Amino acid sequence: MDKTKDIIKLIHSLVPSDKKIRIMNVCGSHEHTIAFSGMRSLMPENLEIIPGPGCPVCVCPESDIINAINLSKRDNAILVTYGDMLRVPTQKGSIRAEGKNFRMITSPFEALNIAKSNPGRKIVFFSIGFETTTAPTAGILEMGVPDNLFILSSHRLTPTIMEILVKDAEIGIDGFIAPGHVSAIVGANAWNVFSEKYGIPTVVAGFEAENLLLGILEILQQFKNGKAQTGNVYKGVVKPEGNTQAQRLMDKYFEVADVNWRGIGHIPASGLELRDEYAERDARKVFELEEIKEAKTPGCVCGTIILGKAYPSACKLFKKVCTPKTPKGPCMVSAEGACNIWYKTG
Ligand code: SF4
Repeated sequence: MDKTKDIIKLIHSLVPSDKKIRIMNVCGSHEHTIAFSGMRSLMPENLEIIPGPGCPVCVCPESDIINAINLSKRDNAILVTYGDMLRVPTQKGSIRAEGKNFRMITSPFEALNIAKSNPGRKIVFFSIGFETTTAPTAGILEMGVPDNLFILSSHRLTPTIMEILVKDAEIGIDGFIAPGHVSAIVGANAWNVFSEKYGIPTVVAGFEAENLLLGILEILQQFKNGKAQTGNVYKGVVKPEGNTQAQRLMDKYFEVADVNWRGIGHIPASGLELRDEYAERDARKVFELEEIKEAKTPGCVCGTIILGKAYPSACKLFKKVCTPKTPKGPCMVSAEGACNIWYKTG
């Protein structure tokens, strides 16, 4: 406890009184710890900790969800995906409300098992998320999947979206808390670009409040010294080079693609699709899926929140008509969504 108090004291000593410093976290679990621990209330007035694009469910485009709904209605098909994805609202409803044959899974290995135990059916695994979930999907492909398992890939790349954020002057990011889980896969070195090219201190942190505070402290120390670099206060889990085996498998099965991000739009080279060599496993190709036009959810400013340009409380629907039980946008669905977290923590 004393150590935590000391870190907070040091943080206060490093934040200038005449300038706002904006540090962004890029991980729903980080935002969860920050909000539930009440950390923001202990920070100096001039230090803002902004939630960024850390919620995989929130950035998954409507088009993919609607395609998933349609796939669940095909004869003999079963759509399998992570629990939060079932509840994400779209212009055509959610998978839970509008889908037909679908099952919730908690890992790609369950998708594999469902395919093995239903050899006469077509199992479509709607695989979403950042590098943390791409790696195990590549893992099951490497293990060998049965002919009746198909992948609808909606994976997104964290470093790419962070670079988009850095270039947007309206956001004005002074430092990044790099995501702990993603860093375990891509490695701390993956963030070097932010210090080397953009002069933005970037520190990998874990999920305990004290560890996050240490990350914030290191960003501020770098900021004060005028020397940006990649820091890592989560060294027990995150290596500089990351998980090279996982990276090799991801690269073997997936290739970088231009994709849509919900509420943000089309971003070149920001997603992962299955390589052509694995076209027979690719649900987009096998079922000839079409890109469905994205529609704006009336009143929802989720995209703006993900980009760090607004807090959930700026949305007129927040807590009024949009609640975890009646989500109007994706950021209210998942426990990693900023709106959901802010709803629960006030
Ligand atoms: Fe969208 Fe609901 Fe968040 Fe508003 S409160 S931005 S409607 S998810």
